[in-house]
Amino acid sequence: MNLDEFYIYRKEVDWSLLHEGLTIPLRLLVAFRNLLNGYERGIGRKVTLLVDSQPFEAQLINQAFDREKYVRHADVVQIRFTKKSGLPQKLQQVFFASYTYLRNERELVRGRKAFIHLPEDSREYFVLYSTARPDVFVVEAITKSELYEANTFLEGVSEEEFEKFSDFARRDESATIVARPQLAKVRKLDRSIGEDLKALYDFRCQICGENFGKAYDQRVVEVHHIVQFVRSMNNDYDNLMVICPNHHSVIHKTDPIFDRQSLTLSYPNGYHEALILDRHFNMNNQSETNAGSVP
Ligand SMILES: [Zn+2]
Ligand SMILES: [Zn+2]
Repeated sequence: MNLDEFYIYRKEVDWSLLHEGLTIPLRLLVAFRNLLNGYERGIGRKVTLLVDSQPFEAQLINQAFDREKYVRHADVVQIRFTKKSGLPQKLQQVFFASYTYLRNERELVRGRKAFIHLPEDSREYFVLYSTARPDVFVVEAITKSELYEANTFLEGVSEEEFEKFSDFARRDESATIVARPQLAKVRKLDRSIGEDLKALYDFRCQICGENFGKAYDQRVVEVHHIVQFVRSMNNDYDNLMVICPNHHSVIHKTDPIFDRQSLTLSYPNGYHEALILDRHFNMNNQSETNAGSVP
């Protein structure tokens, strides 16, 4: 992975993405928030999005909210583009399966307001990464066929093997999945989301609170998928947990049940253990969540 590239956001393809842009909630995005430090709010900046190495012009707007009025509103950034930029046309071409599906569905519900989701097994993703240049971003398209390919190649790969290989802290080149280019984009995305989440926890374990590598200037904390990634392909934040190598090893050996309400792990021997750090599961306690609509 290019070290200047940081994960910013993964967006499920929808109609507005293919026509005008997207809204990015900043709540959990450590790297991107840092990147935006010093950018003035409310003013659009010209940025370049690279799609298939081809540059397209867009506007990045760091939304300004009236804090008196919208105390609980999450910070968002918007990326907007016009037809003239050629970007909508390019995205419609890249995500042709989604575009065709959404267009047909919209014809069917004409006149009625309805948000159309792609069928679960046909979702495609627009993934945004930063680059070394603050005004240039890379778009990676993860299409239905690529997800299908990756999924197929993950059959027979163990969860530990996948996580080990995807984890930046554990670069074990002996993994058998190394030679499978079909997994490259999915692995990169998974690793990048994990790296962002580790930063959110300051490289501490959510179970014991330790940053074990700190004294050695090493980052050894790892990212665990609560529902196995090799089966679910799910790397949403709420399927990820940041834990130290010891806890990770115990979890894979014992397969505890995780209760999301109490944030407690229950092990087969009857031992219970509550997370001591949570900055991303129960977000509702901290701030509101509807980042899709902007006042
Ligand atoms: Zn731990
Ligand atoms: Zn794991």
